[in-house]
Amino acid sequence: MLRIGVLALQGAVREHVLSIEESGATAVQVKRLEDLEGLDALVLPGGESTTMRKLLDRYELLEPIRKLAEEGLPMFGTCAGLILLARNVVGQESHLGVMDVTVERNSFGRQVDSFEVDLDVKGLEEPFPAVFIRAPHIVEVGKSVEVLAKHDGRIVLARDGNFLGCSFHPELTDDHRLMRYFVKLVSETTPGVISK
Ligand code: GLN
Repeated sequence: MLRIGVLALQGAVREHVLSIEESGATAVQVKRLEDLEGLDALVLPGGESTTMRKLLDRYELLEPIRKLAEEGLPMFGTCAGLILLARNVVGQESHLGVMDVTVERNSFGRQVDSFEVDLDVKGLEEPFPAVFIRAPHIVEVGKSVEVLAKHDGRIVLARDGNFLGCSFHPELTDDHRLMRYFVKLVSETTPGVISK
């Protein structure tokens, strides 16, 4: 079975673990360097990207994760996790800088801190219930990036090769289609491992 790590420094960890297991893979919580060993993929959850960055530095995980990303380990960043993956972050330095997108933080207005919409997603037959919480959006994408969903004309879900990133929190509903999409992506890039 595929082993998918969830960065467990801060944020919605438990919900991602459940979603990964619902999608037929084994979930591994990643808190320190040795937890990264033998993973087939990594999920970077939502939370607060500046806090997560401080913790990544403190536990000396930033460079090892970047190296794994550069070696091709599939990664799924949700909300703050997308900000961690992005090559550019408007108005500040980037973090991992591996996914060829530019993101802007807190871009859906201060008044609307959180909201839910039924999102049309490329490849999904029915709309996906997307929960946005102080969400970023993707302002620019590189040539290799496939845009998978937009809300209000803004890109909120995209894939760049082995990297999947979304502005919202797919783990906060019982709809596991996006995690299944990621698990499928991982199984296609991990020879010899068959997911359920
Ligand atoms: N606003 C947060 C940030 O900039 C992201 C919010 C979230 O992950 N729900 O990091």
